[in-house]
Amino acid sequence: MANVIVTGGAGYIGAHACKALKAAGYTPVAFDNLSTGWRDAVRFGPLHEGDLLDRASIDAAFATYQPIAVMHFAALSLVGESMKDPGKYWRENVTGAANLADAAVAAGCLNFVFSSTCATYGDQDGVVLDEETEQLPINAYGSSKRAIEQLLADFEAAHGLRSVIFRYFNVAGCDPDAEVGEQHVPETHLIPLMLDAIAGKRDALTIFGTDYATPDGTCIRDYVHVSDLVDAHVKGLEWLKADKGSRVFCLGSGDGFSVREVVDASGTVTNRAVPVIEGQRRPGDAAALVSGSRRAAEELGWTPQRSDIATMIADAWRWHQSEPYER
Ligand code: UDP
Repeated sequence: MANVIVTGGAGYIGAHACKALKAAGYTPVAFDNLSTGWRDAVRFGPLHEGDLLDRASIDAAFATYQPIAVMHFAALSLVGESMKDPGKYWRENVTGAANLADAAVAAGCLNFVFSSTCATYGDQDGVVLDEETEQLPINAYGSSKRAIEQLLADFEAAHGLRSVIFRYFNVAGCDPDAEVGEQHVPETHLIPLMLDAIAGKRDALTIFGTDYATPDGTCIRDYVHVSDLVDAHVKGLEWLKADKGSRVFCLGSGDGFSVREVVDASGTVTNRAVPVIEGQRRPGDAAALVSGSRRAAEELGWTPQRSDIATMIADAWRWHQSEPYER
């Protein structure tokens, strides 16, 4: 079976990608420094412990596994943290990606699938976002991802590295079999925090801002199921293997939900009360981020199966109640 290096393969999305790759007949090689990932999450192929700031460890992975492609998930991804410490985001995300791309070219591995983000768009009032929308990030997380997109274009011009770039909207849910799931320390994401509050593991969910120019005053996001998202990645890999060239795809459901709507849906799915506190805005948050793209559907044949809000919350809730990973 052909090997694919999956950076961040011990993390939330990376581990789900490893499962999807295995199911599609590849051997996923998780490349991870385990700074935020979990050894327990590496279940579908080998783990190569390494660090993207250590070029030798990347070269060793390419030499050992001779991969046909790289899927690059490893990154810092917290909007709030990126506003407080932008240097960390530029170093780890951008320098890490440059090291990885250099190593891939040196090894002759010219297929690169990259996880980018709708945070590269910034806060564009009322605009439905697609691949042609201008990228105007308002936080260092988004800036660092936009920089990597540009880096990949430069690497294609110089070295023939072909990339499929996915700009994710808000990834949610968990593997329906609960083999892998979402576990962050500290947790910062809306749905897992809400499930913690519902389960009594924390006092309440704080809603970050109720005075946005949205119908109910809370931020609107487009949530997409992680299993659907990683299916698109496998299709992206097939796209590169078929020599179709570099391409950007947005991955979202196309439906926007406010924080209050997600709170209400969580109460309905779990049949429990959701303890909520209304708090201040979080710096760096856009009011609304919703995908209007059909490109992944039309060109990759991607049809999300589980990206309705109730299914995403139900899958996350099932994982939340199962055994979590241990360090
Ligand atoms: N959010 C919130 N309370 C929290 C965490 C998140 O109100 O404790 C909001 C956040 O402001 C954003 C949405 O939920 O509008 C999704 O945030 P998350 O951190 O899950 O993902 P992001 O949009 O940063 O990728």
